[in-house]
Amino acid sequence: MYIQLGGGRIDKEREALPVCNPVNGEVIDTVPGLTPADIATAVEAAAEGQREWAAKPQTERNRILRRFADLLLSRRAELGELLCRENGKRISEAEEEFDTVAALIESYCDKAGHLYGVSLPNVTDATSCHGDVIFTRHEPLGVVACLLPFNFPVELCGHKIAPALAAGNAVIIKPPSDCPLAIIKLVDCLHEAGVPAKAAQVVTGRGSVIGDALVSHPGIAAITMTGGTETGAHIASVAAKNLTRCFFELGGNDAFVILDDADIDLTIGQALESRVNNAGQVCCASKRYIVHESVAEEFTDKLILALKQLKIGDPADRSMNVGGMISEKARDEVVEQIRHTVGQGATLVYGGEAQGKNFLVPAVLTGVTGEMDVACDLEIFGAVFPIIRFKTLEEALALVNHCPYGLNSAVFSRDMAKAISFAEQIQAGSAVINGGGNYRTATMPFGGFKKSGIGREGSSRTLEEFTQEKSYVLKAVLGNR
Ligand code: NAP
Repeated sequence: MYIQLGGGRIDKEREALPVCNPVNGEVIDTVPGLTPADIATAVEAAAEGQREWAAKPQTERNRILRRFADLLLSRRAELGELLCRENGKRISEAEEEFDTVAALIESYCDKAGHLYGVSLPNVTDATSCHGDVIFTRHEPLGVVACLLPFNFPVELCGHKIAPALAAGNAVIIKPPSDCPLAIIKLVDCLHEAGVPAKAAQVVTGRGSVIGDALVSHPGIAAITMTGGTETGAHIASVAAKNLTRCFFELGGNDAFVILDDADIDLTIGQALESRVNNAGQVCCASKRYIVHESVAEEFTDKLILALKQLKIGDPADRSMNVGGMISEKARDEVVEQIRHTVGQGATLVYGGEAQGKNFLVPAVLTGVTGEMDVACDLEIFGAVFPIIRFKTLEEALALVNHCPYGLNSAVFSRDMAKAISFAEQIQAGSAVINGGGNYRTATMPFGGFKKSGIGREGSSRTLEEFTQEKSYVLKAVLGNR
């Protein structure tokens, strides 16, 4: 598949990186493995593209972006099928990613029409300032590098390009190497809709080869990255040399807390939604099940019963409940993490078996204690339910917060006041009461405490963050008063 770089077409002259279907290993296509020199070309062109894009009136930018969303939706079936094949996720999950992008475009275009500056009262005794008018405007940052993980590549691309482009920035998108194809097609749709080619570019290649060249380039005004905490920390250290602003959405090990008075039948459906969705490869999946001892047995039994009903297999078959993982390697890593946790004293009471090339039977681990890695800093990126029992609320809270991450959280109780007072003490970017932690909308400020990230993503916040507010001073326009 070819890409546009610096406004020109790149296809043949680079190393061809294969993109494989993780279900059967079939090579779907290849993409060019760019070099650091290509990245410099892209950034230089993006500066030009940004000027062209920002010069368009907001109404025109909004029209183009809405046309892009319509194009994307009109190709939902074809693009969803491509994403399903390159990623291994269920076809309906793949299609929904395009719906989310369209919703994000709508949300940010609406907001961009109301991105107000302020007019400031001039409160100073300095007579030299009397009669001046001061106001502010939000101006674009410039070129924004958007780095994306494999798990929701298209949806998360939307979370980045919608605010960046609506605010008049250019974007350089670095897709995950495992599944870059749907994003390349998405960028084609941007161009077809009218976004200048140099204002929206995709750069393919391994992060380890082109990543530093991109994030260290002085022409990059901001980096918005979703991915692992280790990668984020590396990018932050490289970007610090230019003081480039960074927004990070990183790893998590979110708690799903079941208090003694919770509706257990409700928790089961929510636990499945939170942990089995996308084969468990979700940043804000509930990854630690902290359950009051009086209901732990009922929860475990009902959970296993529900897991037994799930059909695991071919992600293109709409009757399946659980699709595949991104690769055999990723699946095997989860199997190894289960083994490691059992080695630390947990009991595997259900599942955990590898199936086919990239499938995993969701696993349930009991006897998990606060000292085990999985209860603290081991983020398992697959459908594994580690169950940790507690006796008192204080003990539950200590377990929840004994973690370097803090993305989302979930608390279940029939007593709303009790649940809210517990949630107030959780160190995480969001707390869902009586629902699973795998929760995100276009508007809500989504992001993490601690090592789960820096900044918030959502149309209630991010548009402003992708601009810089400039003060304008009109000297003495009101006369000398
Ligand atoms: P990853 O390995 O950190 O990769 C993320 C992106 O960074 C990829 O495009 C990768 O490129 C690129 N990259 C790698 N090394 C780089 C470098 N030195 N410089 C610049 N870019 C570099 O993450 P992943 O395995 O794809 O995703 C899983 C992780 O993402 C999990 O920890 C999950 O919790 C987290 N996540 C967080 C959120 C959130 O909103 N908080 C959402 C989704 C996922 P290559 O693919 O070419 O290596």
